[in-house]
Amino acid sequence: MTYDTNNIFAKILRGEAPCHKVYEDEHTLVFMDIMPQTDGHTLVIPKEAAETILELSEDALAACIKTTKRMAQAAKDAFAAEGVSIMQVNGKAAGQTVPHVHFHIFPGAIIEILKRPHAAALERPEKLDNHAKRIIAALNEKP
Ligand code: 5GP
Repeated sequence: MTYDTNNIFAKILRGEAPCHKVYEDEHTLVFMDIMPQTDGHTLVIPKEAAETILELSEDALAACIKTTKRMAQAAKDAFAAEGVSIMQVNGKAAGQTVPHVHFHIFPGAIIEILKRPHAAALERPEKLDNHAKRIIAALNEKP
């Protein structure tokens, strides 16, 4: 599979498109989903160029999982959720719409979140900014 270097997450990684950033380290970047299915819907992506988890190196995958765990805790805390859900899909046939590996984090129950439309409505930037700040504050409480 050929990686599309013009996909929106590649542009975000290169700084060519904006995002509401929550966290960044050497191998991963985390930002708010621009069309959230619930408050606090966050995306974890590897910096490595890979369309799906099947092409991603094991080291990059390990970095993603490590970051995803930290972000799941922070999103759960920030939104006082009783549970937190993680979703990851690979390939158009599975429902992937952006061809760069990503992990969705949703505070709350996946069964409720999946009843809502996917990538359907743009959220207000002020709200995404506020939600990013809440998750960053929760992250700083448990570094
Ligand atoms: P997928 O459908 O591939 O599992 O998830 C892609 C996600 O990326 C969707 O939830 C969609 O709302 C989100 N998304 C699409 N375009 C953008 C964008 O430009 N910025 C951000 N932050 N999220 C995006």
